[in-house]
Amino acid sequence: MALRVACHCSRALNMGLLLLLLCALAPPIFAAPARAGSKAPVSVGQFWHVSDLHLDPTYHLTDDHTKVCASSKGVNASNPGPFGDFLCDSPYQLILSAFQFMKDSGQQVSFMIWTGDSPPHVPVKELSTEIVISIIGNMSSTIRSFFPDLQVFPALGNHDYWPQDQLPVSANEIYNAVANFWKPWLTDEAVSTLKKGGFYTQIFQTSITSQPLRIISLNTNLYYSPNSVTLNMTDPANQFEWLENTLEKSLQNKEKVYVIAHVPIGYLPFVRNATAMRECYNERLVKIFRKYSNVIAGQFFGHTHRDSIMILLDEKEKPITSLFVAPAVTPVKSPLQTDSNNPGVRLYQYDPLSYNLLDLWQFYLNLTEANMKNESNWKVEYSMTKAYGIEDLKPESLYEMVKQFTAQGSKIFQKYYSHFIVNYDKSIVCDEYCKISQLCAIQYLAHSLYSDCIRHEAQDK
Ligand SMILES: [Zn+2]
Ligand SMILES: [Zn+2]
Repeated sequence: MALRVACHCSRALNMGLLLLLLCALAPPIFAAPARAGSKAPVSVGQFWHVSDLHLDPTYHLTDDHTKVCASSKGVNASNPGPFGDFLCDSPYQLILSAFQFMKDSGQQVSFMIWTGDSPPHVPVKELSTEIVISIIGNMSSTIRSFFPDLQVFPALGNHDYWPQDQLPVSANEIYNAVANFWKPWLTDEAVSTLKKGGFYTQIFQTSITSQPLRIISLNTNLYYSPNSVTLNMTDPANQFEWLENTLEKSLQNKEKVYVIAHVPIGYLPFVRNATAMRECYNERLVKIFRKYSNVIAGQFFGHTHRDSIMILLDEKEKPITSLFVAPAVTPVKSPLQTDSNNPGVRLYQYDPLSYNLLDLWQFYLNLTEANMKNESNWKVEYSMTKAYGIEDLKPESLYEMVKQFTAQGSKIFQKYYSHFIVNYDKSIVCDEYCKISQLCAIQYLAHSLYSDCIRHEAQDK
């Protein structure tokens, strides 16, 4: 989520120094033992999804609440504690507690996806190319220190560049540095396209099955509305052409594909009539994803900091792909926003033969409670199949679930909304206006059907 503010430049140097200091003097973490509801049987594959870490290296506890974190931009932190504050980006201790929890959970996973945004929400002048590179490097090595043998598939976020959002269409210092950080996880070919355009593809081969899974990590920041570098370009970095060619080959080779990216396709669920990407790019992606829906077994995003789903429908309104937006690890909100999210990480379960998604387990940290007890007790928030009484996460199953949301006063929809904000505040209710925006965004990713939905739903009320 982009939080925009005016600039002041005095912290630029401090930020770099503090970053080095804090990374060297990171406090020991206090991890609580945690388990998923049940251990997965061998016939089920699992992977982690983390997103939007947004480390704020300036975070520290002090009596002057305007100075707790640079990311509160001079506003009083609301209730700061060792694990963070809802007006601040993540202290290093929060990020450590998330990875420690994942490690201690004992879950057997095949890989992890990490959908970007490592630097904090601070004015552009308080960061620099050097600081952004250093933060992404820190987060990459933090992940590697917890999971030295785990395959990680990262994607770049709009904050993983300086100046933020302005990700370019050709080789540059940041893509180059990031590709070097991610080299231990990626093939030479993936590193090479990552250096040129910030995207890559790679095969993941499990030991359980001979069926290969292809990961496509897109740089959707090239399509992000505030990116002025790509304004008026029809195919920034030729990523559309590359994507179509990659999916066409997957189709020929009978592969299955997971698409991962930071900025999600479709309409933003908390506002009306706004896509995260420029609309022309959104339309083009919807077309490509419809054409290759038989190959794509799931799509995974971050960026909004909220927990939401989308269902891609074909022209006949048949559900063809399940899409997931994972909530952030950072709890940050701007002072003007009423809601935020507790820190979250998630675990997906899939069928290793078809790569169809079977379930997702959302874990979260109750930030207020963790700060009060000085203890990070990460817990299961929900399992999607159990919370909504569905069989699996296939597009047809999600579509059935969403049909239940539409009933007036639907309790199950209020549950979805409380998951949307990761149990931030049970007293926040999504009213009719809010619900229409949510329901239309879940089901309609392209312009014409989305606007029909908004018009139609608004008339009915
Ligand atoms: Zn973010
Ligand atoms: Zn973002």
